[in-house]
Amino acid sequence: MTDVLIRGGRPWGLASPADLLVRDGRIHRVGPSLDAPGALVLDVSGQLVLPGLVDAHCHLDKTLYGGPWVPHSADDSLAGRIANDLGRRAELGVPSAERAAALLARMSEAGTTHVRTHTDIDPSVGLRGVEAVREAAARSPVHVQQVAFPQHGVLTNPGTADLLAEALRSGVEAIGGLDPAGVDRDPVRHLDLIFGLADRFGARIDIHLHDGGSLGGWELELITERTKALGLGGRVTVSHAYALGELGEAAQDRLIQGFVDAGVAIATAAVYSYPVPPVKKLRAAGVTVACGHDGIRDLWGPYGSGDMLERAMHLAYRSTFRRDEDIELALEAATVGGARALGLPGYGLAPGDRADLVVVPASGPGEAVVVHPRRTLVMKDGVVLHN
Ligand SMILES: [Zn+2]
Repeated sequence: MTDVLIRGGRPWGLASPADLLVRDGRIHRVGPSLDAPGALVLDVSGQLVLPGLVDAHCHLDKTLYGGPWVPHSADDSLAGRIANDLGRRAELGVPSAERAAALLARMSEAGTTHVRTHTDIDPSVGLRGVEAVREAAARSPVHVQQVAFPQHGVLTNPGTADLLAEALRSGVEAIGGLDPAGVDRDPVRHLDLIFGLADRFGARIDIHLHDGGSLGGWELELITERTKALGLGGRVTVSHAYALGELGEAAQDRLIQGFVDAGVAIATAAVYSYPVPPVKKLRAAGVTVACGHDGIRDLWGPYGSGDMLERAMHLAYRSTFRRDEDIELALEAATVGGARALGLPGYGLAPGDRADLVVVPASGPGEAVVVHPRRTLVMKDGVVLHN
C-alpha cells in the first residue's frame, strides 16, 4: 500500500497547519513539512481535516434512498407511522440491500466512515433486514454497526424476543429497545429483558426513548440503574431522550449525574420540533453525546440527506448555538461522540489512529457545520475514496 501524504491541511484541534502521513491504513505521523519520498501527495492547503464522520443513529433497512420519490402517506401520530411502515414496506420492497447500499454510497461521499443502524426485528420481517444491511455493508467502505431493534415492541409482539436473541447470536453487535412504557407498557420487564440479552451476548445497548416528561425521566433512571448494576458503563446509549429536554433543571441535573456515574451516552437526531437533549450541559458534565440522522427518506418521513455535517447543523441550530465554540459541540457529536458511543478503537487524527478522515474547505468547525461545504477528500482505512 503506497504511503499518502496529506499536505498543508489544518487538522481539527491543532493550532497550526500540519501534514499527515498515512501508512498501512493508519495515521503514521503528524507534523509540519513532513518528508515522505515515494508517497502519493494530496495538497489540501488551508483546508480543515476532520476525523471521519459518525452517524450514530440511522435506519438503513427502512430507507427508500436511490429509488423514485415516494410521497409521504402516514398521518402524524406514532401509531399512524407504525401502521404506514408495516402496511407499505413489502409493497415498496424494503428492507432492500440495494436501497441501503445506495444510502451508504451517499454517506461515504459526504465523509461518513462509520454508522450505527437500528434494524427492525419482528415476526413478520424476521432477520431479513439484518441480512439486507449486511449485504449492503459488505459492498461499502463504511463501517456498519447494527442494532437489533424491536420497532414494533417486544412484550407486546410475541416472538420478537427470540428473534432478537437470534440476531445477536448471528453477530449483530448491539441490542435496541423502544419506549419501554409507551410502547411495551411495562418498562421494568422490557428493560430487564433487553439488558439480560445484552449481558448474555456481550452486546452494546441503544434504546429509543420518545416517552416524555416524568415518565421518560423515570425510564432514564431505570436504564441508568441497570447500566451501573451490570457494569455496562460506556456500552449503553439512550437515543432521542426527549424527556431530558423537557424536564426542569433539578431533574435534568440529577439524571445527568446518573449518566456520568453509570457511563450512559445520549444520541440525538434533533429532528422536527421534538425536544433536544441539553447538549452543552451534558458535555460540560462529561456525558458522551452522539448524533445521527434517524430515518432517511423512508416510510417514517421524507427528509434526510446522509450528510452528517448538515445533520450537525440541525443539532447546533435546534440547540440555539451561535458561537463557534458551541457549534463545535455539534461537530463533536457527529465525530468523537459517535465514535465513543459505538466503541470504535483508534478513532481520531493522532499517530496510530485509523486513517479515516474527511477534508472540507472551511476555516474551522463553526464554518464546517454551518456551511457544510463540499468534501474535497474522504479517506477510509488509508484508502482515498473521494478526491
Ligand atoms: Zn431511530
